[in-house]
Amino acid sequence: MKNYSIFSLVKESLKYHEGWQNALPNRPLKDKYDIIIIGGGGHGLATAYYLAKKHNLKNIAVIEKGWLGGGNTGRNTTIVRSNYTMDESAKIYELSVKLFEGLSNELNYNVMFSQRGLLHIAHNVHDMQEIGRRGHAIWLNGIDSEYLNPKQVSKMVPTLNMNGRYPVVGALLQRRGGTARHDAVAWGFARAASNLGVDIVQHAEVTKFLIKNGKAQGVEVRQGKELKKIMAGRIGVVTAGHSGVMANMAGFRLPIESFPLQALVSEPLKPIIDCVIMSNAVHVYVSQSDKGELVVGAGSDPYISYSQRGAFNSIEHIMSPLVELFPFVSRLKMLRQWAGIVDVTIDRSPIIAKTPVENLFFNCGWGTGGFKATPGSGYVFASSLAGKEMDPIAKPFSIERFYTGSLVDEGAAAAVAH
Ligand SMILES: Cc1cc2nc3c(=O)[nH]c(=O)nc-3n(C[C@H](O)[C@H](O)[C@H](O)COP(=O)(O)OP(=O)(O)OC[C@H]3O[C@@H](n4cnc5c(N)ncnc54)[C@H](O)[C@@H]3O)c2cc1C
Repeated sequence: MKNYSIFSLVKESLKYHEGWQNALPNRPLKDKYDIIIIGGGGHGLATAYYLAKKHNLKNIAVIEKGWLGGGNTGRNTTIVRSNYTMDESAKIYELSVKLFEGLSNELNYNVMFSQRGLLHIAHNVHDMQEIGRRGHAIWLNGIDSEYLNPKQVSKMVPTLNMNGRYPVVGALLQRRGGTARHDAVAWGFARAASNLGVDIVQHAEVTKFLIKNGKAQGVEVRQGKELKKIMAGRIGVVTAGHSGVMANMAGFRLPIESFPLQALVSEPLKPIIDCVIMSNAVHVYVSQSDKGELVVGAGSDPYISYSQRGAFNSIEHIMSPLVELFPFVSRLKMLRQWAGIVDVTIDRSPIIAKTPVENLFFNCGWGTGGFKATPGSGYVFASSLAGKEMDPIAKPFSIERFYTGSLVDEGAAAAVAH
């Protein structure tokens, strides 16, 4: 498949863009693979890419029931950061940020990673203590973090209301944090994996695991009206909001719950906010997209559900603090609202693990904050699926931690904000 470059762009523009090839060839599912990955979100596609690239395995299929990136990957507010408090989390999220930093070149696909800086604002003494603890933890893990006083915050975000109902008394800044283009991340990994020989098949739903004597041997897949049996050496399940459903299908339970999480975009504006701003205390975060829309999100809905619509009162909870912090927002029209289903563990950290079924692995539980982990998650999960020792960065995220009590408690750092 053709590489994208400045020359191909010029050449194709002179030909009225009629010569571009499809990004993905439409390959049918084979009867047997070394590895099957279920879920064509960012994490599943990244796993396939690193399996092919780093472990030199090519007989792989990614099976997606909808379209690539149509799950949480295409629904999130695209925030990328690595300012988590626990050492285990710092390692995986920082690995991810580092991979993001070279991703457009590596994949030959512009994932629009914009390190515009990410500000956690504090409204009171308690918030200051929380960002203080977080800042020190991050710093000790070698991750950039800076405290800003109110004057510095105001200079960085002149439109922020510093003295309103939620006064801004300081902030923690991660300059290397920012945003990336979510669907480009999915398609970049998909195209690069496909170029390396991975079969990526959309509109194919896994309806059953084929398990014999406690060993996974393949899956049953529905494509339109057809049901097919596809055999596999190993199977990786990366289905975010539906991981509980998949575990049930395999005959065990995961310590996970699924909630709707909503986001909104406004009508487009001229450039007005050039960093990401989040407030844990009032549960809101906002950034401005390249098209000019404000991209706004908040906490998850308070009840378990698989409805990708979300509750109306959550919208009120998003908008009222946002208007307090940015009064000009009261004059804006909100154009679109949507929700995704996020899978949440008790310690707000992911599960990257072997399961009670041999050869069946799960990567899930990223909850409200897994987009930023996409490359890192794929990188470490690929080692498990390749049959190697589990990557040391992934080890703390096993299911056993829920029995042994060695939880990676990121409640404070993950809570609302991504
Ligand atoms: C509104 C919202 C805002 C968010 N904001 C952020 C943010 O700013 N930053 C951040 O880091 N994270 C954020 N997140 C979380 C982030 O989006 C997710 O953690 C991440 O995208 C999970 O990626 P994934 O590839 O694991 O899952 P997904 O992208 O959901 O992919 C899973 C795929 O599995 C497929 N699937 C399910 N069942 C089957 C089956 N039986 N057969 C075949 N395929 C199946 C689905 O169709 C889906 O495409 C947000 C999430 C939401 C909903």
